[in-house]
Amino acid sequence: MKTLCFILLTALACWRQTGIHEQIRSETDSIYDKLIRIRRDFHANPELAGNEIHTQAFIKQYLLNLGLEVQTDIYGYSLVGILKGSKPGKQIAWRAEMDALPNNFPDEVPFKSIIKGVQHSCGHDVHMAVALGIAEVLAKHRASLAGTVYFIFQSEEETFQGARGMIDHQLFSVIHPDEIYALHVTVLPVGVMMVKPNEMFAYQKRVRIKLKEGDAEELSAKIYSSLSRVPANSKPWEIQHIGDRDLGLINPNTIFKDYLIMDQPFNSYTQNDSLFLETYLYETNAANLQKIIPGIKQLVGGDVSFIQENPTVVNDEELTKNAVNTLRKIYGNNIIVPDYGQVPYFNDDFAYFQQKVPGVYFFLGGSNVVNHAPGFKVDEESIRVGVRSFSSLMIERLRE
Ligand SMILES: [Zn+2]
Ligand SMILES: [Zn+2]
Repeated sequence: MKTLCFILLTALACWRQTGIHEQIRSETDSIYDKLIRIRRDFHANPELAGNEIHTQAFIKQYLLNLGLEVQTDIYGYSLVGILKGSKPGKQIAWRAEMDALPNNFPDEVPFKSIIKGVQHSCGHDVHMAVALGIAEVLAKHRASLAGTVYFIFQSEEETFQGARGMIDHQLFSVIHPDEIYALHVTVLPVGVMMVKPNEMFAYQKRVRIKLKEGDAEELSAKIYSSLSRVPANSKPWEIQHIGDRDLGLINPNTIFKDYLIMDQPFNSYTQNDSLFLETYLYETNAANLQKIIPGIKQLVGGDVSFIQENPTVVNDEELTKNAVNTLRKIYGNNIIVPDYGQVPYFNDDFAYFQQKVPGVYFFLGGSNVVNHAPGFKVDEESIRVGVRSFSSLMIERLRE
């Protein structure tokens, strides 16, 4: 009898190891249609950064219905859903952004924005649906969870204000995550995600050059041609290629690695008898950042300073490796595609969270073109992939 019991218990434990992800898969499928309706509702009713009032109200009620504790008084219209397992354990945060963009692009879906000039053309509607889906799946497993999962719904990402606002308003004295995760839907095939350790984007800085006099066009050209650095035959400013097989991030010879590029033409103006030149620059290598100001000074003289310096998304090496292994073990090798580059122009204020808590940021395949572009459209199957993959990852992380 004892032996039989042992065999049964071992079999049960084994089934629970592999069975749980099958279960997550079917739980995801069972809420998929509802998540699509929610996503379409967000899409039709977008709210700009700082105005996410209805979005917040909907999410709050949804999380409360799942039995989560909800905090809304941290910063702006952000909110945090807290899912406590039945036992103490690790604390993990998942972050999704809430805001839309001030765009008026053609959008061919039948659930178009009803707010003139405001659109979810970055895909945050999809991110919120995925996060709600993960919360719902994990809530079903609460009784067997050891630890806590925090769902951070962050306002004001597009203005780079929300994450910093939440941190400045003591987010991390309210919650104490050991790890933090997020995703961004992008122009990769649906069914795959892309991730790498360290920087996912280039460093973006706005530089200002103050000179006594000179020809703005000539000076800009001089600075650009002397300081820019691009690999042979590469045009990393052609952002539309990031999803390409040959030129994009997935190819070891991608055009999106090892570069310094600048927006052209520089913005120029005269004030109090001085000539000012300003531009954004994008550098992939952190070690090169400190050479930029001396480089410009040496070239044209004047006062040179950075007037805007956003941090960049930097993935924790250990957690990235662990997440890649876990996701591949459960969903197959092909679920993760390699990332050999760094994306210019874009960034994510998730970087501020990563300065406080080690974390991983993923690109989730699903859009037809680059985010923020006219005609941006997301394949909603990406929601299913996101919910089941990251529910599995969270569960595995809590088991460690
Ligand atoms: Zn965006
Ligand atoms: Zn975005």
